Amino acid sequence: MENCIFCKIARREIPSDKIYEDENLLAFNDINPAAPIHFLLIPKLHIDSLSDVQDIHQTLLGKMLLLAPQLAKERGCENGFRTIINTGPAGGQEIFHLHFHIIGGRDRLPGMIHSG
Ligand code: 5GP
Ligand code: ZN
Repeated sequence: MENCIFCKIARREIPSDKIYEDENLLAFNDINPAAPIHFLLIPKLHIDSLSDVQDIHQTLLGKMLLLAPQLAKERGCENGFRTIINTGPAGGQEIFHLHFHIIGGRDRLPGMIHSG
C-alpha cells in the first residue's frame, strides 16, 4: 500500500526503532508509548485490520501470536504483558495496517476500558 505508514516502515522508507524483523514480520517501538515497554508487531503484508483477515492469513497470524510472548520476554516483560489489537473506528484503530500492541514493563497495568 503506497501511503500506509506501516508499509513505509516495513519498506524502510521511514525510520523506526526496530526490535525484530524476519521475512514476514516486523516489530518496532511505538512512537508514543503507553507504558515503559510498548512495541508494535506487524505483518509486512498489508492487511487493513483484524476484520479483514482471511483463511490464507492463518499461518501469519499464528506466527504473530507465537512471536509476541517471545519478544515481550526478551524486552523485559517477565511477569506478563498486555496485547491489544484495535480494530476499526469503533475499536479506536488509527493506523489501518494490522498491528498488535504489546505493552508492559509495569508491576500491573491499569484496568481495562470503563463504560461510559
Ligand atoms: P492504533 O490506534 O491504530 O491501534 O495505534 C497506532 C499506534 O501507532 C499508536 O500507538 C501510535 O503511537 C503508533 N504510531 C503511529 N505512527 C507511528 C510511527 O510513525 N512510528 C511508530 N513507531 N509508531 C507510530
Ligand atoms: Zn500497510
